[in-house]
Amino acid sequence: MSNPITSIKLVLLGEAAVGKSSIVLRFVSNDFSENKEPTIGAAFLTQRVNINNNTIKFEIWDTAGQERFASLAPMYYRNAQAALVVYDITKPQSFIKARHWVKELHEQASKDIIIALVGNKVDIIENDESERKVAREEGERLAEEEGLIFFETSAKTAENVNDVFLNIGEKIPLKN
Ligand code: GDP
Repeated sequence: MSNPITSIKLVLLGEAAVGKSSIVLRFVSNDFSENKEPTIGAAFLTQRVNINNNTIKFEIWDTAGQERFASLAPMYYRNAQAALVVYDITKPQSFIKARHWVKELHEQASKDIIIALVGNKVDIIENDESERKVAREEGERLAEEEGLIFFETSAKTAENVNDVFLNIGEKIPLKN
């Protein structure tokens, strides 16, 4: 008998252009595009993964980062079991925004929501470390203080992208 499928509703939050849609595209299609059209409103995609012989189906809501859609975000995270809060390690403002999202989730989302803090675009600093504007330690510290999963990723090279989702999947209680 195969085990039942466990579904996880997951929402992406973060400033515009940090790479939310690109992370989803990498995870779902193992693909990347340099000139992606911005997401308007929200996009819905699914992906299944096997974790310890159990099938986990991620139901992914990728929300638009534009301020004018920020007021719609609660509709998406309210009954989410997991959230990815994404920032761009070359954009300090996006880290400040990520802090706000974490605070908002802790105040407004389900109290057992699993949150992953994701510092994206690490490929940019491979050749020039001076492009880094958010220290790895800042991300680690926020994650430690707030009880978050933390990864630095690149949607471009795929570095750590699957690991973010696998880590979340491992923390979700299974149906059985
Ligand atoms: P979103 O608005 O947060 O969904 O961001 P997008 O996924 O639309 O990405 C915004 C821009 O950043 C696009 O031009 C992407 O190609 C680029 N981008 C996204 N992820 C990465 C990454 O990991 N590395 C680099 N170098 N560029 C990225």
